[in-house]
Amino acid sequence: MNTTPDTFTDIDAASLVSRLRRTHHSGRTKPLAWRRQQLTQLRALLTENRAVIADALWADLRKNPTEVDQMEIDVTILEIDDYLEHLENWLTPEPAEVAVGHLPIGTAAHTEFDPLGVALILSAWNYPIYLLLTPVAGALAAGNAVIIKPSELAAQTSALLGRLVPAYLDTDAVAVVEGGVAQTRSLLAQRFDHIFYTGNGAVGRIVMRAAAENLTPVTLELGGKSPVFVDRDTDLAVVAGRIAATKFANAGQTCVAPDYVLTDPDTAHALSAAMARAVEELFGTDPQASSKYGRIINEHHFNRLTALMVSGRTTLGGQSNRGDKYIAPTVLMDVAPDEPVMQEEIFGPILPILTVTDLTEAIAFINDRDKPLAVYAFTNDETTRKRLGVSGILCKSVGVIGC
Ligand code: NAD
Repeated sequence: MNTTPDTFTDIDAASLVSRLRRTHHSGRTKPLAWRRQQLTQLRALLTENRAVIADALWADLRKNPTEVDQMEIDVTILEIDDYLEHLENWLTPEPAEVAVGHLPIGTAAHTEFDPLGVALILSAWNYPIYLLLTPVAGALAAGNAVIIKPSELAAQTSALLGRLVPAYLDTDAVAVVEGGVAQTRSLLAQRFDHIFYTGNGAVGRIVMRAAAENLTPVTLELGGKSPVFVDRDTDLAVVAGRIAATKFANAGQTCVAPDYVLTDPDTAHALSAAMARAVEELFGTDPQASSKYGRIINEHHFNRLTALMVSGRTTLGGQSNRGDKYIAPTVLMDVAPDEPVMQEEIFGPILPILTVTDLTEAIAFINDRDKPLAVYAFTNDETTRKRLGVSGILCKSVGVIGC
């Protein structure tokens, strides 16, 4: 089913959910063969439509096609392939341990893996293919009917999915509902068997409250301010290159992007200079002209971000262009902890570098605030790494340690 966003009401939502529930009750979605076929079709949707997906993401976020291939399409395919490879094994019933006294003597228990029913998947706009279709793959693999609600902010991608999903997936069991807050609210007024939401915490609370009405289990993938600790002994050219690559990808609109840096005053100055060189290496002297550099999703977020740029002192970037929704890769120094840029997740290409005297102060600073989504450390010191609770060496990824 494809819906017309503006006319989708509570009544439509109720009838859509009951139609999908009937399909689920009929047993159609339960067999392994159906699940595998849907996953294979979802895979085909991605592989056969790379070019139109890239066009939609260019229109929504000016995301470059290589990034779309890697960070939207290929990562989703990897998940689908994982399900296809392991699903049969995962569905095999397992012996279950039961506390002595809970079963009559001589009996045994086992766990069977049953679909939940009808799942609702609500997603954010920043990686609008990956964030949406990965949980869809999981729900289908688990034998559920699914209602998919793409983010209205990535409008071109939402419209594309509204066309492609019914062309590839079982329309009796999978539906896309396009639209905005009103449509999401109509869906949330219904009873689901699982709700998977990716987005900000304020809406996360709305989702959880609605789910509580029906005691529906929820998965919430939310945001946070992810700090980066930079130690004295690091190679700052490498550090800056890695921070710039992860912070400024998708114009900073990545949930686990480094949000701010904590380091000592000497390193802060040297890092700021190294960031300028790293940004030039990535995007040239004019990032606005680079096909590798993205745009802010809409005017609301453009206004929100440019208002944050008044904090501290700008040592790199600072330029913006409203018509183009462009904000330059920006570094801020001398930022006080009570300034606006430190009050909320930045979710854009602005990097404050704050100074601390030592690791103890950095840890206290992090602990005084909301729990971050991720913490990154650049250090060669095993004790520092352990004290920050950073667990692995992922030198080519965003969690970068030991440079
Ligand atoms: P968004 O505004 O697109 O919202 C997501 C969904 O919520 C949409 O379908 C939208 O229709 C719905 N929605 C919005 N306002 C609503 C309301 N008032 N009532 C009911 N429904 C409403 O996405 P966003 O929140 O701007 O996404 C960015 C956030 O998502 C950031 O905080 C980011 O860190 C987080 N995020 C987290 C992850 C993760 O995996 N943890 C991944 C990506 C993004």
